[in-house]
Amino acid sequence: MKDKEAVSVFQNNRVIISIRKNWCKACGICIEFCPKHVLMANEEGKPEPIKIDDCINCGLCELRCPDFAILVRGIEVKDE
Ligand code: SF4
Ligand code: SF4
Repeated sequence: MKDKEAVSVFQNNRVIISIRKNWCKACGICIEFCPKHVLMANEEGKPEPIKIDDCINCGLCELRCPDFAILVRGIEVKDE
């Protein structure tokens, strides 16, 4: 059975980037639109957040993805 919900999750202490690999058609739009060059195509042409620490959580990748395959969420940091 195909795992249609397979999600790869990448995170640091500020953002979580989730990629549904089976929804992604490797169009490269998210990679092109990322202003911080966070994403790079893997061998299948699908995005990998190789520079997640440069992500500014602008949401452009999520907004531009025609297939709802990439999601970015900020992590709330509480001041001590
Ligand atoms: S949220 Fe913005 S900076 Fe972060 S990966 Fe997506 S397009 Fe790039
Ligand atoms: S824009 Fe969406 S479908 Fe296109 S490569 Fe990025 S995640 Fe995959």
